[in-house]
Amino acid sequence: MKIILLGAPGSGKGTLAKKITRDFGFPQISTGDLFRAIVKEDSALAREVKSIMESGALVPDELTIEIVKNRISQKDCENGFILDGFPRTVNQAKALEKITDIDSAILVDLDFETIIDRLSSRLTCPACGEIYNSHNYDSEICQKCSATLIQRDDDKPETIKNRLEVYEKNTSPLINFYSDRLFKVSSANSAEETYRSVKTFLEKFGE
Ligand SMILES: [Zn+2]
Repeated sequence: MKIILLGAPGSGKGTLAKKITRDFGFPQISTGDLFRAIVKEDSALAREVKSIMESGALVPDELTIEIVKNRISQKDCENGFILDGFPRTVNQAKALEKITDIDSAILVDLDFETIIDRLSSRLTCPACGEIYNSHNYDSEICQKCSATLIQRDDDKPETIKNRLEVYEKNTSPLINFYSDRLFKVSSANSAEETYRSVKTFLEKFGE
């Protein structure tokens, strides 16, 4: 099954993708990961992507779609895949339509107030990367390595609000674009509960 995953930062989209991959075997494909992998290669494409990324510009759509096309033609994508973070625009979605048939867009839905609360209570260990939540972790010291925990700039309420605004602006047109095959799931409850709904949907789809 060919899936696109839509959801705001902090919606629990990443956790959901991991569970789908675990049970259904569809690899999770994020363009960020693809770009990071490509620049390590020694090829003309790698050099092109690298110089674009170093200039701080966005990788153009034609190049991105070419990279996605290569990735989804690999053997592990035979039975399906999960695209995460791509397409970001309707133009990209239209280009994607030309190279593959997306079966479903899964929208992980969570109200922004809850997202802001979840993300702004997140504490990160700068040394080992472990993540804590100040709602249920009553210390400023990392349990694993004893470093002092910090709140990442990305997790500060003002930054979160900006990220959510950008998300909404970009994603609303995509929700429209995929309205004929959209599966909306709320992630207001536990990650397990969110996954259960999606699993039922995927199993029905496979019948
Ligand atoms: Zn640590």
